[in-house]
Amino acid sequence: MTPSRSWAIAAIRTIEADFNRSADTHLIPLDLPAFPGIDVYLKDESSHPTGSLKHRLARSLFLYALANGWLHARSTVIEASSGSTAISEAYFARLLGLPFIAVMPATVSPDKIAAIEFYGGGCHLVQDPTTIYSESERLARATRGHFMDQFTYAERATDWRANNNIAESIFKQMELEQYPQPAWIVASAGTGGTTATLGRYVRYRRHGTRIACVDPENSVFFDFYAAVANGALPQDVRGHFNLDCGSRIEGIGRPRVEASFLPSVIDTMFKVPDALSIGAMRWLASKLGRRVGGSTGSNLVGVLALAHAMHTAGEQGSIVTLLCDSGDRYGHSYYNDAWLAERGLDVATAQAQIAACAESGAALPRSVQHAPQS
Ligand SMILES: *Cc1c(COP(=O)(O)O)cnc(C)c1O
Repeated sequence: MTPSRSWAIAAIRTIEADFNRSADTHLIPLDLPAFPGIDVYLKDESSHPTGSLKHRLARSLFLYALANGWLHARSTVIEASSGSTAISEAYFARLLGLPFIAVMPATVSPDKIAAIEFYGGGCHLVQDPTTIYSESERLARATRGHFMDQFTYAERATDWRANNNIAESIFKQMELEQYPQPAWIVASAGTGGTTATLGRYVRYRRHGTRIACVDPENSVFFDFYAAVANGALPQDVRGHFNLDCGSRIEGIGRPRVEASFLPSVIDTMFKVPDALSIGAMRWLASKLGRRVGGSTGSNLVGVLALAHAMHTAGEQGSIVTLLCDSGDRYGHSYYNDAWLAERGLDVATAQAQIAACAESGAALPRSVQHAPQS
């Protein structure tokens, strides 16, 4: 066997052994008093060793790269990331003894930079968020390393049929609940990999569960989805959608339609104002007694929109969503009133609107847009 093949075998075993030492993440019930008969659950992805749902993705991307023969004993691993993926990849790179460099927008939270450096990774910050891909390619060439490219490979690196992917794990943990087959699973898209895995899995396993995706401001996914859903565009058109600014909800929302975002497996989409996402995040933190991240707030807005609609239609059932990461990474931003005021985000009003919906059954503000699948 060649030395590089032996190295890859040992590396895969190291990652599998790490998985074997790990436990699954919890599925936590969330009480919504306004909607009796609608049971809501949070899949707590913050409890992974590296603190977010990107732990699953990073493991899959490393295994995919190793199985493809793309990594060698001295490869520098490069990633374009808004932070969470880079933290998880830095963890796996250190596990394999590989150098790691994250290419990130300069606006990324200092806590995320500290977490990447904690795992021995380097951070390469760029002013213009749209240049993270070209900078990553350039660095990969310069170091003769490997650009992981999560936005391209997330959907195909993840095993969508099984292998304890997030969908299989949710369905196993729901088995003894009153409504084991969720009416909806709600997620938001960064790479789009999570919604792709969820959507493919429910089709493959022949569940009736539908997938809802929530998009923040400064992101193209919602408009792209709506254009595909109403037949104005074929689903493989990508280049037409480009923004020149980045999302304020870290982890989700993209300035371009990513290759891993698959509209055909998403059953409905919502577009949520950032203030409402952060208001929902804060309301949820007050109910759980611990801080959650911004994208978890976005997800909760989607859950409330669907719970309100189900309740109005007299339907009962379960809704599952993701607690994507902890709020500990956002002490300087979403949990900092000065940071919010500087950006004109009226989170107090938004939090009251969320409470009115979750606790008293009021409708959400009209600023939440909805694009149903046609
Ligand atoms: C990446 C990410 C998401 C979205 O997941 P994708 O599978 O990339 O679409 C949501 N929240 C956080 C905090 C993330 O880091």
